[in-house]
Amino acid sequence: MLSFSTGNFKVYNIEEWQGEFASPEQLFAGFDASEFARFSKQIPHSFYRPESDRIYAFLQSWVIRAGDLTILYDTGAGNHKQRPGIPVFGGLDTPFLANLAADGLQPEDIDVVICSHLHIDHVGWNTRLQGQQWVPTFPNARYLLPSIDRAYWDPSNHGEKRPSTVGAEVNTNVFEDSVQPILDAGLAELVDDGHTVAPGITLTLNPGHTPGHLVLHLDNNGEQAMFVGDILHHPAQIFQPDWNSVYCEDATAARESRRRILALAADTGARLVPAHFGGAHFVWVERDGQRFKPCFGI
Ligand SMILES: [Zn+2]
Repeated sequence: MLSFSTGNFKVYNIEEWQGEFASPEQLFAGFDASEFARFSKQIPHSFYRPESDRIYAFLQSWVIRAGDLTILYDTGAGNHKQRPGIPVFGGLDTPFLANLAADGLQPEDIDVVICSHLHIDHVGWNTRLQGQQWVPTFPNARYLLPSIDRAYWDPSNHGEKRPSTVGAEVNTNVFEDSVQPILDAGLAELVDDGHTVAPGITLTLNPGHTPGHLVLHLDNNGEQAMFVGDILHHPAQIFQPDWNSVYCEDATAARESRRRILALAADTGARLVPAHFGGAHFVWVERDGQRFKPCFGI
């Protein structure tokens, strides 16, 4: 477990899964080998395995303790879920709740769950299997879900904007088993850009990866952190912000959001906490002429 502080807020990561995920060529839309060679030697082994040409990634949640409030940001892939579109995250049986307990937390202790976006690996532990039913894992929590994603990913919503072919395939079953039960239980609160969770804890809309993707901002006692979900999958996207993942829904908006977040991190000194980073699990960003470069901390 990693822990750090942002002002008086205490932050912990709760690990769910780690492993070699895909080659850079498979993960990044618009991958270019000669461009990757420009910076790949500056990427630590905990993020990229040159011997197998594989990105090394984590699934993890973040606990934020702010006074009496205990927040869980993103909920991984979950256990026992049927995931035909992305088998690596199907049928998992991980000790995620035991890892949470090792941090002194039972599911009942979580006050607020925040899903950065409604992709398969960010909503999974919203629910757990009880008999044949998916029930909320965190019964006392209000679940803050991006309202735009709620409409976009709901398979019964026949609105104008529909998920991409890749997005629809990878997220098969996800809304039904990990979002709808939260709506049905009356635990969901649909939120938008600028939502204040508590003093010093706000959400901003940064669309592109999904249309409703939310970034969580902590600001306390002069220190800042930004939990950026899938705005950044990997440090390669700090060196080359124009590379989207193949899971980004709107390529142009995803690039704009990534550049905006990197510039904000560089200009404010905020700690950046992406969803899937290994190593220290967070990063700082500096300007490097017209580009950006990561500073990997510990
Ligand atoms: Zn995602």
